[in-house]
Amino acid sequence: MLKNRRSRLTRFFENYSLKALLITDLRNIRYLCGFSGTEGALLVSKDHAWFLCDSRYTAQAAVEVTGAEIRECAAIRIDTIAALTDEHGFDRIGFEAAHTTVSAFRRLSDKLPGVDLIELGSELDEIRICKDSSEIEQLALVAALSSAALVSVLEHIKPGICELDIALALELEMRRRGADGKAFDFIVASGVRGAMPHGRASDKIITSGELITIDYGALKNGYHSDETVTVACGKPDARAIEIHSVVRAAHDLAIEAVRPGISCRALDDVARSYISGKGYGEYFGHGLGHGIGLEIHEMPSLSPRSTAVLEEGMAITIEPGIYIPGFGGVRIEDTVVVTGDGGRVITNADKQLLFL
Ligand code: ZN
Ligand code: ZN
Repeated sequence: MLKNRRSRLTRFFENYSLKALLITDLRNIRYLCGFSGTEGALLVSKDHAWFLCDSRYTAQAAVEVTGAEIRECAAIRIDTIAALTDEHGFDRIGFEAAHTTVSAFRRLSDKLPGVDLIELGSELDEIRICKDSSEIEQLALVAALSSAALVSVLEHIKPGICELDIALALELEMRRRGADGKAFDFIVASGVRGAMPHGRASDKIITSGELITIDYGALKNGYHSDETVTVACGKPDARAIEIHSVVRAAHDLAIEAVRPGISCRALDDVARSYISGKGYGEYFGHGLGHGIGLEIHEMPSLSPRSTAVLEEGMAITIEPGIYIPGFGGVRIEDTVVVTGDGGRVITNADKQLLFL
């Protein structure tokens, strides 16, 4: 499996005539060699790989790292990189410019005089864009546990509790079900706060008749889940019910349109033109969704500016919304894995408007 993932680096060696690649982004390191700790580096040549870490991580690396020689760096890691570079005659090394600080780059340049350091942008993250079967299994596992956590929290929503109560209860329920943590700070936005697409849970008290948008996700084994429901506390007014039905229809249409070969821009347009046709186009200001995996937001992005095309194995979110300032908002989000002939929804909380 890791060999297969490593083969996705071949085109970088070829396109940039590289002798080696220095991987420092922890998500990419985990993806390529299995290390899940919080500090390390991976130096990859065409036929070998070295995982570099300090003594705090040697034992962990011995258990987790596959397909790379572990080098414990006694002093400064960059010295070990320089020694390997020298030993193997690497005169052209690619590095992840999107994940390298200016000062780290300067240190690298100082230690490697005469070596061409080739900047690779976020294009290197593209190796993770299509998930393999073990990743899809992890994504489905974390999605299922977080949806189950929501179901148990919904039972306790009633007028008088505050948004933070919901966020805290959700986190606790996820942990109880085996999550390593939350995927991000949950969005719990009720009533007029629902007009903020990213309204973090606050101490606002929820009152009867309000809509509540809950955008939440868990983290397990490095993989994220992401799902949004908009529920009602009591009976909301007719306009709120109408907005919910428009967003839900746009969400359902977009999910039905998921298949390999459709462009992310076209998929975004499926939901966007439906919402515009209902007169709410100006209130849907963000893209339809994003890729998800070892990062909560990763490639591909789904928006009117996207250039990507869906392929089998991609994991994406579909999350249309309508946000009306001074009134409130609705967002509905599912995580979907692109299969050979369509999309498999892996988040499973009920998306119809629930009256709690
Ligand atoms: Zn979300
Ligand atoms: Zn999302």
